[in-house]
Amino acid sequence: MAKNTGKKRSYKAYTRENITSLPPYAQLPQEIKEAIEVVGRVLPFRTNNYVAEELIDWTNIPDDPIFQLTFPQPGMLSPGDYQRIARLLKNGAAKEAVDKAVAEIRYRLNPHPAGQLELNVPELDGQRLKGVQRKYRETVLFFPRAGQTCHAYCTYCFRWAQFIGDDNLQFAASRCDQLLKFLRTQPDITDLLITGGDPLVMRTKVIRRLVEPLLTPEFSHLQNIRFGTKAVAYWPQRFVSDPDADDFLRLCEEIVKSGRHVTIMAHYSHPVELSTAVAEEAVRRLRNAGCEIRVQAPIVRHVNDRADSWAMLWSRAVRLGAIPYYMFIERDTGPKGYFEVPLARAYHIFREALSKVSGLARTVRGPSMSATPGKVVIDGVVEIKGERCFVLSFLQARLPDWVKRPFLAKYDPHATWLTDLRPAFGEKAFFFQQKSEAASWCHSRHDVYADSRPLLPGKDIEYAG
Ligand SMILES: *Cc1c(COP(=O)(O)O)cnc(C)c1O
Repeated sequence: MAKNTGKKRSYKAYTRENITSLPPYAQLPQEIKEAIEVVGRVLPFRTNNYVAEELIDWTNIPDDPIFQLTFPQPGMLSPGDYQRIARLLKNGAAKEAVDKAVAEIRYRLNPHPAGQLELNVPELDGQRLKGVQRKYRETVLFFPRAGQTCHAYCTYCFRWAQFIGDDNLQFAASRCDQLLKFLRTQPDITDLLITGGDPLVMRTKVIRRLVEPLLTPEFSHLQNIRFGTKAVAYWPQRFVSDPDADDFLRLCEEIVKSGRHVTIMAHYSHPVELSTAVAEEAVRRLRNAGCEIRVQAPIVRHVNDRADSWAMLWSRAVRLGAIPYYMFIERDTGPKGYFEVPLARAYHIFREALSKVSGLARTVRGPSMSATPGKVVIDGVVEIKGERCFVLSFLQARLPDWVKRPFLAKYDPHATWLTDLRPAFGEKAFFFQQKSEAASWCHSRHDVYADSRPLLPGKDIEYAG
């Protein structure tokens, strides 16, 4: 049953600076209060009044999934890093000393996994396009500068580096004229994925400046406009009661009227995010405006590493008219050690969840890794001539020819990422690690697909692309 508080809220953020003013704060265990101080220095922390009042069950701390999802946890830093910051703070160290330690720890946390800063950036007139990524032929990602924040931050966020105010780690565009110019020259691009951060923290009139020019015949090759967002879960008021909620829905209607498809790539991590009246209302209103909603999230320990959570999420989504889309593997960045789920276990949970839901919810694909060469899905575990193997394939690939070709990796119950896997049967390399042609749409000389270094089994294996 949806909770109906009937309350029209205005947004209020809680961060390390004002978290003590959140009423349940006083009751938090001391180690959580300390973790907010310590971990909150290194990794971004922000939650909000809706998340705190409607999604978190304060009688279930620290295990509540949405508490784990938005509040810093002691295990998110290694014991060494945690003690280092805790000691500096306890000793009243100078701000410069704390900042220096924080910066060192951050750079060790792999802030841009899968080569996000160097790879996939297209060029226009010999210039790299800031805030634009094109990894797959059909789809361009755009990171508008004003959308580099969220209504709350996920503790496991793989884009955490976007939020810490370090320009060296940020990846965003402050203007969209370059993007438009680029899109004009690229007839193969059918999809624009506006992402962040969260682009729906931007006011509608700003989004409109980006989207409206695209609705002209000049961009007839652009068929699908996607918004990647967590607002449907963290601030559904964005689509219901915010001052420009209706204006956003009108913009979606205009996209549809132009003959295009508009889809919300909705980041829902847990079924509780679809349990409130306002969350249901947001879905209803988006659907009435002609938006499709596709549901996706990574599987993360402490938050949603149970088959029941996924089965419930997907069936709720289908009941409301949203489409289960992807289950991802958490990326190799930030506090991965705390949140990671081994591939074998993720596959087991995915299969169990899938077996519990109607066929309408089995549109979901996963568990999938957004790795350097592409989106790799674990299709199963088999035994061939006495060797246990993962069966894998590409859902998306830097070279379209790689898609949907099954390949085998030696089974490893502890592997958590593609780079932990080795080819089965003693093969030296996976098929996509062979030398291959660069994709024609990649203009960047920085995009080296396969270099001539030998492919050695081991941690340092080079993935093509
Ligand atoms: C996931 C992803 C896309 C979109 O892939 P779809 O399978 O079309 O949803 C596009 N670009 C990048 C870099 C991605 O990781």
